[in-house]
Amino acid sequence: MSTSVFELFSIGIGPSSSHTIGPMRAILLFLKSIALQEKLPFAYQLKIELYGSLAFTGVGHGTDKALLLGAMGYDPETVAVDAIDGIIEKIKTTKQLHLLQSVMIDFDPKSIYFHTKDTLPKHSNGMRFSLLDKNAKLIKQDIYYSVGGGFVVTEATFDNPICSQEKDIPYPFKTAKSLTEYCSKAHKTIAQVMMANEEVLRSEQEIKQRLHKIWEVMRASIENGCKREGILPGGLKVKRRAKDLAAKLKNLETKGIRDDTNWVHLYAIAVNEENAAGARIVTAPTNGAAGIIPAVLEYYVQSQASDVQEAIEIFLLTAGAICILFKEGASLSAAEMGCQGEVGVACAMAAAGLCAVLGGEVSQIQNAAEIAMEHNLGLTCDPVGGLVQVPCIERNAIGASQAIAAAKLALCGDGEHFISLDKVIATMKETGENMSHHYKETSIGGLARVKISHPDC
Ligand code: SF4
Repeated sequence: MSTSVFELFSIGIGPSSSHTIGPMRAILLFLKSIALQEKLPFAYQLKIELYGSLAFTGVGHGTDKALLLGAMGYDPETVAVDAIDGIIEKIKTTKQLHLLQSVMIDFDPKSIYFHTKDTLPKHSNGMRFSLLDKNAKLIKQDIYYSVGGGFVVTEATFDNPICSQEKDIPYPFKTAKSLTEYCSKAHKTIAQVMMANEEVLRSEQEIKQRLHKIWEVMRASIENGCKREGILPGGLKVKRRAKDLAAKLKNLETKGIRDDTNWVHLYAIAVNEENAAGARIVTAPTNGAAGIIPAVLEYYVQSQASDVQEAIEIFLLTAGAICILFKEGASLSAAEMGCQGEVGVACAMAAAGLCAVLGGEVSQIQNAAEIAMEHNLGLTCDPVGGLVQVPCIERNAIGASQAIAAAKLALCGDGEHFISLDKVIATMKETGENMSHHYKETSIGGLARVKISHPDC
């Protein structure tokens, strides 16, 4: 049993995988389970309670809106982004919610409870949903946790989450050591091992098609981010800068100057501005860190004169394998690990993917991931105003150029490294566990406090 690459790279909407996509999926699952039992027609009242980090930064991360969309039956992958504001406005005005588009109930969005002083026992991103009939009798109540990267589990499945690959896979690696052993014994690359695992679920052709669809959406988010201008939503008045930056870089090129590093920064900023605006992006492996992998892959694609179709597959499969190691050995949740679990992991994934397509051996690829994470250890999550904007957008730009540096450094070596990838993952986990909750997606510490202390800055 393992995680599919298509769970790690999933098409969704911004601004947060744990606070937007996860809650949207959770309430959708909750209501669908009631519909399956044919009890939904008796629904009269829906109670939504958010705990811990979801309560602290839920409004800034759009958790409340995502829950309303999910309750109406919309899915993060397919909801029409341009229609979202209208749907939410209608609920606010009518104070009615059309559950799964089949049962209308009275619902005031202001009635969502944000329990900032309480945390549910298993994870900081907890939600409790209760559905009642017209006699106030409970139809169903359940607790869900959004555990990072858009993954959700219930209270009952928390300790044994069900992944999509329930069938036996040929290479059930959980550590870098076991991944290396499988590659060595089967004479396969990391991407080939991942492909063999994925083939348990779907054909090679379908896997390739889906990988290219992921890349298509990533690329569209770069292009859209480079076209749009204005102020990002949420109240911080952060100005979009990708369009201006693109114009400056193009202008430099007319003078014969190609600034590769700033092009990479531009790609990442463009994606994260799209994410901050609630537009369509790919979680990679989270929304907050969604810009790093597209930026590094676009950097690679732009630098190649030849066909890059196969390289895109190798890049994404390799990055996915590295992500599984972090998911199994630590966590992708900023509420548990701080930003090292988001930007740090994305940086390691991108470094590994780039190293692979540039011809790196298994040991060099792992070295690239290890270097990338080593210099993100201790990175805190402290978004100003609870919005995925400052420092998140710029942090993706820096993370992308760090990933390229890590891949290049690893390619210059022989794969031998003082600290193993498994050790750095264990260190990340320990660092996350020892980190104060002030720095774990609560917006009560770090840079988030700068705004509180100095409201004019
Ligand atoms: S600081 Fe990092 S982990 Fe926190 S919201 Fe921003 S990108 Fe995500």
